[in-house]
Amino acid sequence: MGRKLARFVEADQPVKYMGGFDHTLVHCPRCDGMAVRRVARVTCGSCAYTSDLKREPKVERVEPPQIVMCPECNRYVGTYREDLRLQRLHCRGCDWTREPVLRRPWVAPKRERLPRLWLETTFRGERLWAENEQHLRFLEEYVAAGVRETGSSNSTIASRLPAWIKSGKNREDLLRALAKLRSRLP
Ligand SMILES: [Zn+2]
Ligand SMILES: [Zn+2]
Repeated sequence: MGRKLARFVEADQPVKYMGGFDHTLVHCPRCDGMAVRRVARVTCGSCAYTSDLKREPKVERVEPPQIVMCPECNRYVGTYREDLRLQRLHCRGCDWTREPVLRRPWVAPKRERLPRLWLETTFRGERLWAENEQHLRFLEEYVAAGVRETGSSNSTIASRLPAWIKSGKNREDLLRALAKLRSRLP
């Protein structure tokens, strides 16, 4: 007989949603020791490093109005403030038209440059991580539990966990991996 498995009750968790943790443990960008990130500030207790992460100032894109002349008869077609590719252009003089280009060019999303997480490891090729001790405890309790009482919301931390964490088959191995993460805590 195996040991009796604990119960995980989502409603009892102090933090149920990501973004609810007030700090994240990260690698100090200077000494690689354990540092704390709160919002955009990283503070290291070992080397006294403090830095505000650079936030790109939002650049308002102001496009000057563009005057379009008909390429056929050189008549005035219109003035646009928006991206011209998205407008249908039509010349009333000669019936010249140009259909809008509906697809915008693909732009790769910018990766936020943040320090590496302190509590992070790989588990069978997947990223296993926790923001801080509280998040780690959440995962430990979730993984250890034989019965998990979760709400119907699909936006909670528990509901968003990947199948390989939810699966009972990985319980023992996951608990070992989480214990290794815990050993990184002071
Ligand atoms: Zn440091
Ligand atoms: Zn024309």
